[in-house]
Amino acid sequence: MKPRFFIFVPLLIGFLLAIAIPQLSNGDRRDEHYKAEREKMVATQMDWRIVRDGRIGVKDKRVLEAMRRVLRHEFVPDSQKSHAYSDSPLPIGYDQTISQPYIVAYMTELLKLKKEHKVLEVGTGSGYQAAVLAELVHHVYTIEIIKELSESAKKRLKHLDYENVTVRFGDGYYGWEEHAPYDAIVITAAPDHIPPPLVQQLKPGGVMCIPVGGRFQIQNLTLVQKTADGSIKTKQMMPVRFVPLTGKH
Ligand code: SAM
Repeated sequence: MKPRFFIFVPLLIGFLLAIAIPQLSNGDRRDEHYKAEREKMVATQMDWRIVRDGRIGVKDKRVLEAMRRVLRHEFVPDSQKSHAYSDSPLPIGYDQTISQPYIVAYMTELLKLKKEHKVLEVGTGSGYQAAVLAELVHHVYTIEIIKELSESAKKRLKHLDYENVTVRFGDGYYGWEEHAPYDAIVITAAPDHIPPPLVQQLKPGGVMCIPVGGRFQIQNLTLVQKTADGSIKTKQMMPVRFVPLTGKH
């Protein structure tokens, strides 16, 4: 056999493979990278078999699936994208943060959500928690007190096709009476007491998850349950650190 043949055949095979195997674009490669990051985030930060720093792992499969689905990197500023799936809160501007993934998943699990539920969130921030909720329920109403954050979250959620989320600019201490009562309410900023209007807007049988504690005190993530007869039971779940609930109340 001639030596030219030895060069020609591998070159031909290489060429055929190059046209046969679909090439990944830069965008596809980036999506694959973030998908792998999300898988890793769920496996290492919230698995119930791994108990770290006194954490209680998240068991609810639907919640874990939602955490795998929501593109967290779309909810953080460009400067934070490389940290989007790390085990920490991140700055989103205006002195505010997007919560740590584990806290988002844990609070979501506490709400025991069903497909037909209507949920109120106070503290839209980036819109990430609202998107996780929107993966699980019929509709999410979310209120944000900083106008710029409220507007950017609204645009982001629309761009990502979250049609079952309605964002409003305002003071969430007073809830959103127009759409009440809610099956569940989640508050992602800490007041020093449980806002009575939010208790009032919760359905009998509904649950609220809220960090409670003053600016310089330890805050407790509190689960509030409204019983069928309208009475309230509270349970402190764990110490947390959230930005304060602001406003004029
Ligand atoms: N849930 C957000 C996310 O997924 O990005 C993170 C929320 S951040 C920890 C708390 C948010 O609550 C901030 O954006 C803050 O401006 C907002 N906030 C504080 N007080 C509020 C109030 N009274 N009503 C509505 N939003 C409030």
